[in-house]
Amino acid sequence: MPLTPTPFIWMDGELVPWDEAQVHVLTPSLHYGWGVYEGIRAYETETGPAVFRLREHIARLRDSARVYLMELPWTDEELVQAVLELVRVNGQPSCYIRPIAYLGYGEMGVAPNLDAVRMSIAVWPWGSYLGDKAESEGCRLIVSNWQRNSNQTVPPLAKATGAYVNSALAKVGAQRAGYDDALMLTANGHIAEASAANLFMLRGGELVTPPVSDGILPGITRDTAITFARDLGLTVVERSIPRSEVYIADEAFLTGTAAEIVPVASVDERPVGDGRVGAVTKELRGLFQDVVRGRNQAYERWLERV
Ligand code: PMP
Repeated sequence: MPLTPTPFIWMDGELVPWDEAQVHVLTPSLHYGWGVYEGIRAYETETGPAVFRLREHIARLRDSARVYLMELPWTDEELVQAVLELVRVNGQPSCYIRPIAYLGYGEMGVAPNLDAVRMSIAVWPWGSYLGDKAESEGCRLIVSNWQRNSNQTVPPLAKATGAYVNSALAKVGAQRAGYDDALMLTANGHIAEASAANLFMLRGGELVTPPVSDGILPGITRDTAITFARDLGLTVVERSIPRSEVYIADEAFLTGTAAEIVPVASVDERPVGDGRVGAVTKELRGLFQDVVRGRNQAYERWLERV
């Protein structure tokens, strides 16, 4: 997806013009993928932009950094304020927000200098992630033959830059085969997640989603969907899902900051339910759209007003 530049990028505490936000080609994180990042969205509300669950995203960034032995040089509160200021100065009514912590220029090697942590935050307008057709009719998924990163290879619960070659291989393969996205399996054939979104399915009236122990990123939108579902009186179960169980689901959807809540129309050419957007999926999508745009007071706590 092409980037649309905005005026400023935050780099190590300074607001730098977009075109000048550069790093050296010998930045170790570019070579070895040792970096952690977040994806966050701000939405337009009646009283200006609001960042959705900003504090939870910053907390996950810090968790990811801990897994990778990186100490972030800024406090959570400083990072929250930096994001809010950046959205404000860039004049974006709604946008995607990308903080990243990486290892700066100076030393090189597979075990680089972990004290050289640098950070930047960028924002840009970003529309529908899987496309408008996937939004309205549901996305078409294929199970990837690339296995999801595991806790013995690259820790899946940390959002690390290098880990995303795993997601990217699956996503590129799925797209080239004509699908919207890939579902990735664990070593023992359980569904972990899509390339950059968590999976839910509805079966027998229960909403089911894989547990964190099955190698998923603990998605913040996943937590949002679980909260909504429980508040609506649905039973939500976190348990392993064998590959073929999703073939016989009544409904399925993906959750993610970029993807939001997207219906799944089919998996491996098997229509999910009757192949149309299910009632529970529709209800959760509607609630999500209202909450992020400040139209539902019950979840106001999740909005960080710019
Ligand atoms: N899984 C992976 C691998 C992801 O990259 C993402 C996107 N961050 C998600 C799940 C969804 O997480 P969230 O809802 O926090 O964006």
